[in-house]
Amino acid sequence: MKTQVVPVDGWLKVVHFEDANAGLNAIISVHDATLGPACGGCRIRPYASFGEGLEDAKRLSRGMTFKNALGGIPFGGGKAVIFADPRKDKTPELLHAFGRAVESLGGLYYTAEDSGVTEDDIQTMREVTQYAAGIAAKGGTGGNPSPFTARGVWRGVQAAARARLGAETLKDLRVCVLGVGAVGMELARLLHKEGAKLVVADINESAVSQAVENFGAERVSPDDAIAANVDIFAPCAMGGSINVHSIDRLSAKVIAGSANNQLLTPDMDQALNDRDVLYAPDYVINAAGVISVGLEILGQWTAQELSMRIDRISDTLDEIFTRSKAENRPTGAIADQLAMEVVAKAAQKAEAESRAMLA
Ligand code: NAD
Repeated sequence: MKTQVVPVDGWLKVVHFEDANAGLNAIISVHDATLGPACGGCRIRPYASFGEGLEDAKRLSRGMTFKNALGGIPFGGGKAVIFADPRKDKTPELLHAFGRAVESLGGLYYTAEDSGVTEDDIQTMREVTQYAAGIAAKGGTGGNPSPFTARGVWRGVQAAARARLGAETLKDLRVCVLGVGAVGMELARLLHKEGAKLVVADINESAVSQAVENFGAERVSPDDAIAANVDIFAPCAMGGSINVHSIDRLSAKVIAGSANNQLLTPDMDQALNDRDVLYAPDYVINAAGVISVGLEILGQWTAQELSMRIDRISDTLDEIFTRSKAENRPTGAIADQLAMEVVAKAAQKAEAESRAMLA
């Protein structure tokens, strides 16, 4: 395996791994490990270039630092990307080679599911590394995090609807779910169960048909999802759906979905605030999956513990929404500030402890 550290300012460790025999080309990006070993999923995508994959790994791993901090789990931020097409290129050899790459970091980074990586894939990685989580082991641990993520997002949608629309329930509210995959479909089910009226979009026509059939959803094209006449827009596909081109087409007053990096550029945070659109910061609302994985790694996973932690996501969002309104500052900026405070506090504590040990 060819291993090369990629120097990136502000990131703890970014490593490029290549194993030609196994077809592996991957980056593991560890942004920060102040709170504990880095933890975050592995994404398999046919990136157009090395630079595109590196940017994704960097952005996502930084997001994990913030997500884990506000999710209340003792893990730093990390993420991995594999340059491959998950439908064609995924082989046991590739997954083993990636598992060996994870293992070579000696516990600095724990991997888990993300787009293109299933629970079975994690099982395969586990044959060569102990630092892979998100599998339903015999002890009844969490397993695939997607249903938990969906549950956390649903609770977050409720919190946002209360804060911005004064709605105590989602009944009869109109919600557009963009991307009805593992998380989006389960979110759609929960929303439907609560009586919300659904509009769905996906590039996968059969997933859309399933949502239309099962939940009485209206169908809209992915390009028009942002402009759907709804109260709440829930982006659950890939990132970047809120951008300079799309923002003026948005009709919803709330954005609350599972996708990572929903805002293509940081200035969208202020732009949404200026338009009086309440944005539930992505890494806060979608944290339940990694919280489940974190509890699994710590050996503390129980359904009850997870459910309590998921409820805390809405408490955190309530706090962010209240502060945003009181200070007239964008929700994303408030979330970043809260997360940085958690990390800074932990760094201060660690420094004080090491000084005390030396004294
Ligand atoms: P997934 O791959 O199962 O689902 C994504 C869905 O989006 C698919 O149905 C896909 O066809 C659709 N899609 C992709 N590009 C699209 C486009 N341009 N327009 C419309 N639809 C498109 O992934 P997932 O696990 O459901 O994750 C969804 C999002 O939530 C991702 O951004 C992921 O990073 C994020 N997320 C997931 C979890 C989790 O536990 N799975 C946790 C945190 C964040």
